[in-house]
Amino acid sequence: MAYSRLNTITCGNLEIHGYSVAGEETVIAVPELNVCFDVGKAPEEILSIDHVLLSHGHMDHAAGIAYYCSQRDFREMAPGTVLLPARLLSEVQALLACWARIDGTHPPANFVPMEHGDEYELRRNLFAFAFSTNHTAGSLGFTIIERRQKLKPGFLDLPGPEIARLRKAGESVTYTINMPLITYLGDTMGGDFEQLACVRQSQVLIAECTFFDQDHHDRARAGRHYHFDQLAEVLAGMENEHVILTHLSRRTELKLARQLVREKLSPETAAKITFLMARQKPAHKKGAEDE
Ligand SMILES: [Zn+2]
Ligand SMILES: [Zn+2]
Repeated sequence: MAYSRLNTITCGNLEIHGYSVAGEETVIAVPELNVCFDVGKAPEEILSIDHVLLSHGHMDHAAGIAYYCSQRDFREMAPGTVLLPARLLSEVQALLACWARIDGTHPPANFVPMEHGDEYELRRNLFAFAFSTNHTAGSLGFTIIERRQKLKPGFLDLPGPEIARLRKAGESVTYTINMPLITYLGDTMGGDFEQLACVRQSQVLIAECTFFDQDHHDRARAGRHYHFDQLAEVLAGMENEHVILTHLSRRTELKLARQLVREKLSPETAAKITFLMARQKPAHKKGAEDE
């Protein structure tokens, strides 16, 4: 599937495709991990991704849920899996049931209610961990964690059959390492999640920053969003290699946002920042009409 209409950001070995504008649409796909954070209006490009991780129920993040399920059914794909805040489960199921009465078909879907601290196995060694955020009742962020078993140092030089024998005899020869690959905060203002090790150490942090303007502190508080002044303090203590800022308001000029990033963050932190922006306009082909 081509991602030509979505923006692409490369962070190490992960490619992130999506777009995000406050109040309009947020959808962020990571094909290599087979996850899509929020579904926006379910653009064509994300339909083949098997897991949608829904942060909260606001329309700009969740509008495409029914379409995602129905298009997968229409295209004879396996039902998608939707991880969502537990308190939305019955309402989203009712929404699909309502569409079934209108549309005449009820597409299958695997809805997984999630609460703070829950984990879901996406595939072998790869997990989605949910944590509470501070936006709407029950809103969630997610960290995708790769989990591997490593041999303890004392066993590294032993031959394979000897390790197998020890393992069989009940000896603990391995330890677990958790590698937080990518964290998505959804919409949120500051909160306890900022202290979670998986958030702080995640290779990639996708954080919303809706407001930058000094006049917009009240708006940020009222909508329970980050203002850049708050986020700047949080980012200073984070260990992430890449930080993607999403959900800018159309009221913010990107030029101002970039300037504030340079002024208020250390050069090291500023160098980690990428903005995920609005949907790309279709490429103009000579002789072809614009869509
Ligand atoms: Zn939003
Ligand atoms: Zn929201």
